[in-house]
Amino acid sequence: MTVPIHKDHTELTEDQFNTLSEEVLKAKSLSYSPYSKFRVGCTILTASNEFISGANIENASYGASICAERTTISKAILSGHTTFKVIAISSDQEDDFISPCGICRQVIREFAKDVPVYMFKSSGEFIKVYMNDLLPLSFGPENLLGE
Ligand SMILES: [Zn+2]
Repeated sequence: MTVPIHKDHTELTEDQFNTLSEEVLKAKSLSYSPYSKFRVGCTILTASNEFISGANIENASYGASICAERTTISKAILSGHTTFKVIAISSDQEDDFISPCGICRQVIREFAKDVPVYMFKSSGEFIKVYMNDLLPLSFGPENLLGE
């Protein structure tokens, strides 16, 4: 099965797209990653059109490290935002688009079942993939809440 990859940003205005690109490339600078030196930034555009950014935070006890997507979602939730328009991620990779890990896909899915995920290269080039394609047949709130 191939995952549908999109290259448009039709759910965003031109200004929103420009801000999203700038913010997500900047968000990497928030990273605390002394061990891997693999900086990842994340920017969420909330349903109320606010940009919220975060980054990966590592720990000397490696298993306690947390990815950029999860720090940013936590920041958004704690700021009162539970619905998102888009999620964008960036890294220092020049040749590859950064993609969310399995744990982050599940956490994104909790709040945004079919949100577009923008994956950037360090150059600013991006692709867009929908969550439902990144995590098909997923388990989520409606399985427990019966919605
Ligand atoms: Zn992750």
